[in-house]
Amino acid sequence: MKIIFLGAARTVTGSCYIIETGKIRFAVDCGMFQGAAEIEKRNWETGVYDPVHIDFFIITHAHIDHTGLLPRMTQKGFSGPVYTTEPTGDLLKILLLDSAHIQEVEASWKNKKMQRNGRQPEILPLYYLKDAEAVGPLVKCRAYDDAFSPAPGVKVKFQDAGHILGAAILEVFIEENGTTTKLVFSGDIGRRHQLLMKDPSTISDADFLFMESTYGNRNHKGEEDSLQELAEAINFSYSRREKVIIPAFAVERTQEILYSLYLLHRAGKLPQDMPVFLDSPLAIQVTEIFRRYRSYLDGETQSLLKKGEDPLDLPQLKFSLTTAQSMEINEMQGPAVVISASGMANAGRIKHHLRHNLWRPGASVVFVGFQAEGTPGRKMVDGAKKIRIFSEDIAINAKIFTIGGFSAHAGQDQLLDWLGNFQNKKMQIFLVHGELTAQEQLATAIKNRYGFAVDIPEYLEEIQLNVDAPIETVKKPELLEPLVDLNTTLDDLKEKIEYLNNIRQNIQQLSSARKSEISELLKEADRNFAEVKARL
Ligand SMILES: [Zn+2]
Ligand SMILES: [Zn+2]
Repeated sequence: MKIIFLGAARTVTGSCYIIETGKIRFAVDCGMFQGAAEIEKRNWETGVYDPVHIDFFIITHAHIDHTGLLPRMTQKGFSGPVYTTEPTGDLLKILLLDSAHIQEVEASWKNKKMQRNGRQPEILPLYYLKDAEAVGPLVKCRAYDDAFSPAPGVKVKFQDAGHILGAAILEVFIEENGTTTKLVFSGDIGRRHQLLMKDPSTISDADFLFMESTYGNRNHKGEEDSLQELAEAINFSYSRREKVIIPAFAVERTQEILYSLYLLHRAGKLPQDMPVFLDSPLAIQVTEIFRRYRSYLDGETQSLLKKGEDPLDLPQLKFSLTTAQSMEINEMQGPAVVISASGMANAGRIKHHLRHNLWRPGASVVFVGFQAEGTPGRKMVDGAKKIRIFSEDIAINAKIFTIGGFSAHAGQDQLLDWLGNFQNKKMQIFLVHGELTAQEQLATAIKNRYGFAVDIPEYLEEIQLNVDAPIETVKKPELLEPLVDLNTTLDDLKEKIEYLNNIRQNIQQLSSARKSEISELLKEADRNFAEVKARL
């Protein structure tokens, strides 16, 4: 049996693993790559998935970095079943429609820009609404703990991952030549004591474990501290009559923030005259789905709901569904809390709110989730002084808060504790869904504490899985992935700058209109250099 790592290999996004036996070929997750342009290019490389020859997908949870390329698969000929839990099925249908909408809008925006530039529009969206709609009928729902067989010789069981509504850890049993091999895919593992969600299930056995490592090198602050920090941000901007902007993923994070605001409201720490806007039609829909699946929520939430209390509601909560309502928030004077998507500030309405508020000294921006490399959110968290939004440089004068305690991911200690339940000392671990530094530190911690063998696979690496024999790489990723050739680019740039220097006199003699055009273009290039410098 062979596994191919098509994503979340030495990076967080793009989760997808293809398993091939002599008889079947199936995939776990089908995530979109998000972040740096170099990484996002992979979303277009559908050939490596060979969608027509995938028998079925098993999906751990609805987040786009685990589901976002399913419409690309249907577009390119995949028509098999997509197995997942019932809440994930509901969530992924609306998330994929939203994702397709974003793809279409962004492509048409870029095309219009090209036309205004006198060029031919040539950008195609990654996929269309119809491709996302085609996924819905393929979804087949299974309950936690209920083993099913998607193909002869394969048995799958979903266990609660405690990460977001419906999220699952997968136990996969594959029978080949009379022996059964057990693969466990952790999916994203939730943080214990997380609001709304139950704690992640413990698994006691596996031959091969594919484990997430998002926070492999750090722990989160406690929940109380995080709640206190949120109260501080609110207090900071309220006293300066400015807004608190919270970029939040529509699923889970938004609901957890609502729950936290409910707790602050109950403790008298949320001013009653500070409206809270949930400015995301998607998050509003998702919140409704959370209410529909009460039995999936933790005991505390269920008992509040039974008592008639709604921790996802507030007296001052306002929903903005339309674009006009969203724009009204920006015109509104005075303090407010604005929760909007996307969580990494790379798409959606949040960009407008940031443009209107980032430059204001009394405003605050509260990051509550993981920020992938290359996203605007990551730049802000890393202390950027300016950020480019809608082709405009916006100064960052607002106070930036990064509140790790709301994470839906287990921190290092919790990951290690979860691993402590595995009994098979010969288990081979593959770390996935993490940045390399976090993975290396987690790998060392695992080896020291438990002595398990740990491997950190690369993008497109293919590994033969043999129980009782060392794992064997059958295809090196270097052979498949073109290297980024920086030297040629730099030599090329040097030549161009020398050329400009040589013709300086000629440029001086041009008309002032033409000179100012050239100057604008060079300033644009200079801004790009500043961006390059900021990333080093
Ligand atoms: Zn997730
Ligand atoms: Zn994830």
